[in-house]
Amino acid sequence: MPAPLDVDAVRRAPKVLLHDHLDGGLRPQTVLELAEESGYRDLPAGDAEALGTWFRQAADSGSLVRYLETFAHTVGVMQRPEAVRRVARECALDLAADGVVHAEVRMAPELLTAGGTPIEEAVEAILDGFAQGSAEAAAAGTPISVGALLCAMRQADRWEEVAGLVVRYRDAGVVGFDLAGPEIGFPPDRIPAAIALLDRAGAHRTVHAGEAAGIDSIRAALDGAHAERLGHGVRIADEVPGEGPLGPLARRVLDEQVPLEVAPSSNVQTGAYPSIAAHPVGRLHRLGFAVTVNTDNRLMSGVSVTGELADVAAAHGWGWDDVQTVTERALAAAFLDDAERARLLDDVVRPGFAALRG
Ligand SMILES: [Zn+2]
Repeated sequence: MPAPLDVDAVRRAPKVLLHDHLDGGLRPQTVLELAEESGYRDLPAGDAEALGTWFRQAADSGSLVRYLETFAHTVGVMQRPEAVRRVARECALDLAADGVVHAEVRMAPELLTAGGTPIEEAVEAILDGFAQGSAEAAAAGTPISVGALLCAMRQADRWEEVAGLVVRYRDAGVVGFDLAGPEIGFPPDRIPAAIALLDRAGAHRTVHAGEAAGIDSIRAALDGAHAERLGHGVRIADEVPGEGPLGPLARRVLDEQVPLEVAPSSNVQTGAYPSIAAHPVGRLHRLGFAVTVNTDNRLMSGVSVTGELADVAAAHGWGWDDVQTVTERALAAAFLDDAERARLLDDVVRPGFAALRG
């Protein structure tokens, strides 16, 4: 007998996470303690429960100013390497406790330098924290691998520097490059030298595209920035009519099976879609697009990988087949070497799902 597809069972399933922001996933209690340690005085609440609620409500308010204010606070308390290490360690532990077996967590290291931390030290603190958290998770019987994606901010001009860090630290836990920040007005091929550097080094990249902006942005991410995966990418649905043929770019994204790092709750919060039920994740998955399900910002959205998968499954009528398919797709799209990918598939993901499906 298969286990019922509920939150408890989904938590036990071995899951793969491709799109999660380090500065969007802090524990509220940690935000408070780091603020206290560093003398940060701008937090809007003084206890963990009220602070967690504030983050969700501010992100939910429909006001971009309040939404961005949430990151001002999380980044504000991460301006020392020991704070970054702690946040990264807890991220690995929290994801492992949620049943995630491989995660790629992203951060823009340039945002961690305002307090005087050199950018290399910020990267090393992220990697140290992931390594420490993963080691503790393994000792607790919930092994996880966590790779770091380094984001360059679209509106800033440090792309080449960040691309260089991706290459420099790729044997130490950095798995790829991302572009984050305002999608509209800052195209992903704006600084060709950074893209060329990544191309020459054969470095992996995923690019936020098709979240705030539409088809043209997705095309530029693929053709201009040579993205292997699309961060969100859901606006490809603009070329997927209810009936009739797909538009040319949607046809290509489907045919080439470009992985879409879909984060439904995040899209609902930013007002792109009115609800999970009305989100195109179900339609895209049904048509065979390479949909994966992600959290984006666990603190701001109040979500976990388990919760997000369970909610999408409930809203779109998914069964275990669908949950396993999106998991195996995420693993196939992960920036892992082939031996590790095969090990996770054969020894962890497939046996884990088989146990649940009976
Ligand atoms: Zn994102």
